Amino acid sequence: MLQRIRGTQDMVDMRAYAALIDAVKQHAATHALAEISTPILEPTELFKRSLGLFTDVVSKEMYTINTSHEQDSRSTEESICIRPEMTASTMRAYFNNNIERAPWRVWAHGPVFRHERPQKGRFRQFHQINFEMIGAAHISHDAEMIAMLDSFLRDRLKLNNFSISLNFLGSPIDREVYKTILRKFLDEQPHLPQKIRERQETNILRIFDLKDEECQKILANAPVLTDYLSETSEKEWQQVRALLDQLGVAYTINPRLVRGLDYYNKTVFEFAGAGLGAQNAIGGGGRYDYLSQTLGEEKIVPSIGAAFGIERLLLSLENNPEFVLPTPPPMTVIAPFAPEQLPVALTLATALRTHNICCEALLDGGSIKSMLRKANKYHATYVILIGEDEQKNGYVTLKHMAASTEEKVDMAQLINHMVMLVHEQKHHED
Ligand code: AMP
Repeated sequence: MLQRIRGTQDMVDMRAYAALIDAVKQHAATHALAEISTPILEPTELFKRSLGLFTDVVSKEMYTINTSHEQDSRSTEESICIRPEMTASTMRAYFNNNIERAPWRVWAHGPVFRHERPQKGRFRQFHQINFEMIGAAHISHDAEMIAMLDSFLRDRLKLNNFSISLNFLGSPIDREVYKTILRKFLDEQPHLPQKIRERQETNILRIFDLKDEECQKILANAPVLTDYLSETSEKEWQQVRALLDQLGVAYTINPRLVRGLDYYNKTVFEFAGAGLGAQNAIGGGGRYDYLSQTLGEEKIVPSIGAAFGIERLLLSLENNPEFVLPTPPPMTVIAPFAPEQLPVALTLATALRTHNICCEALLDGGSIKSMLRKANKYHATYVILIGEDEQKNGYVTLKHMAASTEEKVDMAQLINHMVMLVHEQKHHED
């Protein structure tokens, strides 16, 4: 058989994924966040402009398709990208759909694609949950967003082994002032690793994303941005922290947290999980007040957002006994003994399903013994046996699997009887 593409996954059991999305839905509903969905295909330009040309995502990791097609006897070239993230798409959608509500509080989930080196917790096609508040100018939204995410992990997913890193990137002017100071510091170093020298030319702030020891050693002594904020920015930075303290959200300040994408300003944050190995970032985000302008709009739409990696959340939940998957509904298996009973088995299955009873008819037949074995394997609560005698005399043999008992039930009474049994069973489980 052909193998799946490196860095992609077959999800053959979606129960935990679905439970996670259900938890987000409940959380989003209490925070007045509406669910949206944007296309997986976007114009390449959207990410080139928004993320920055010199970010890893754009320079190395984007899946791009260049197409050319004939239209009205002219050849049209188009560069399409398979989305590497969702924030730029959300901002595009805000404008394309003339959304008037501000803040536009939305969330979405779905696959994103990055051509990274695959390893545990790092895929080329992975899934994100995305939260955005577009047109949310006041800095208190930053605290609201972080508190919302903290409570999502803590209260909905029952996770408590995570930590939040926080930093403040100030205004564009603050950053220009700081960049000059940082450049001066780097110029004064007797020796600079090649990697730092490269980034110094392209995107100096992202030197802080360099993780190797040699770079880290130098960067440990570098001046930090939060020491050079303007008075207004300093006030906002204090406000975010004071609000988080007031809301009881624990965080650590990491003055070297810059995050990989270019569009952030003011608050940036990252959530890290425990026990996930090297890829321990479970989510992150920040404020992006100038993204609309970077995308070519005149209007500034101050906004804040965050993205969580679904695979990493699921890994964190794997060993968490407090996150319980919902119990599946009681299952009924219908076992026709011979091909003559197939039509009645199928009719019965359809009738049970219209009454919301989960059932499966064993249409491929087999011996009674093998059908009962299958029913056991499927964790059936009830098995309905239909043989020649049952068919002729208009009844079925109903087996209660847990109690190992059976009863004869008149065909005409069967649906009502099953509805009652399943109802009682659910009531008992609740
Ligand atoms: P980012 O959009 O880079 O801020 O990533 C947000 C979150 O997505 C991260 O915190 C991770 O949980 C997850 N993530 C990012 N890249 C990958 C990847 N290659 N594979 C799996 N999850 C990822």
